[in-house]
Amino acid sequence: MNTKKRVLTGDRPTGKLHLGHYVGSIKNRVELQEQYECYFFIADLHTLTTKPEKEHILSMRSHITEVVLDWLACGIDPQKSTIYLQSAIPEIYEMNLMFEMLVSINRLSGLPSLKEMAKHAHLSGESIPFGLIGYPVLQAADILMPQAHLVPVGKDNEAHIEIARDIARKFNQFYGDVFPLPEVLLSKVPTLMGTDGKGKMSKSAGNSILLSDDVKTVAKKVKSTFTDPNRIHANVPGTIEGNPIFIYHDAFNSDISQVEEFKKRYREGKISDVEVKEVLAEKINAFLDPIRQRRAYYENKKGFVESIIYEGTLKMRERAQATAKEMRAAMGLMGGWNKISRIARERGT
Ligand code: ATP
Ligand code: MG
Repeated sequence: MNTKKRVLTGDRPTGKLHLGHYVGSIKNRVELQEQYECYFFIADLHTLTTKPEKEHILSMRSHITEVVLDWLACGIDPQKSTIYLQSAIPEIYEMNLMFEMLVSINRLSGLPSLKEMAKHAHLSGESIPFGLIGYPVLQAADILMPQAHLVPVGKDNEAHIEIARDIARKFNQFYGDVFPLPEVLLSKVPTLMGTDGKGKMSKSAGNSILLSDDVKTVAKKVKSTFTDPNRIHANVPGTIEGNPIFIYHDAFNSDISQVEEFKKRYREGKISDVEVKEVLAEKINAFLDPIRQRRAYYENKKGFVESIIYEGTLKMRERAQATAKEMRAAMGLMGGWNKISRIARERGT
């Protein structure tokens, strides 16, 4: 029997992935796949919570490919990890419903992360759908489906993993031990700030540097990144804390002594924003270069991404069936289920 511990996490197909995804979660995923049994999924159902209209569903198709290309470009290896499409796993809908009974509305509706998501999607009050409030419940179904132990996510998802853990605990109390209690794994940079300096880098906030941006685009985005607004001239002492350009230097410039020197000179008003930004753009571009090359390689392999998704989803369907069966049996729902299945078989329906 396979005794490896299991990892699960996913991304919404709302656009190409950015630097925040990399430092917040993908870097950990690439490392974890060496030791753990890993499941990485495209969270297309989660996308419906803020974008249910048909036009968005149709545009998800290309986003799905882009997200998987970003994963492959970063080093996620389909030989080692299972990559699958959430909506193609029938058991997710069933597990979601069972788990809805195990968490209170108050707990869900008080979550700052959901308020933030609603704000970005221009939803408030009456227009916030029930499904958005249920976002973390669906996430619990994702996590508990392969009975995952570890969930590498960004800080904005931390409270959701806590909810999945509580749902698992409650399920086990009510029905017997079926699910391990999942733990969150935060990275060294659990929230990467956006280029606007206002909040987290996010696909839907238009403040991101994409993993697939070309050299010039990166340079342009870095140039217009928010910095200390008090620095009208290079000789004005600047603030490092909370300043995106230094947050990015810390995350992507491995020349630590250079970063320290820049910080010292910035505090003393002895370096221009332009110089700090030019070097930053070079460093980010150097970091992205191998990612771009791998991306181009996979982009040229016709049909490759689709085949990875198909294979992974087929594999996950088997895994999901096994867990759902265990879940129903523990809940005492199996009797009716078996009987109906038998009658259906007998009648050939
Ligand atoms: P959207 O705006 O559509 O919600 P997003 O940029 O927030 O997109 P998600 O697909 O919601 O991306 O998040 C996928 C994973 O990446 C989650 O684990 C999330 O916590 C992590 N993540 C997203 N943005 C950041 C960030 N700026 N810093 C660190 N981690 C992040
Ligand atoms: Mg998000």
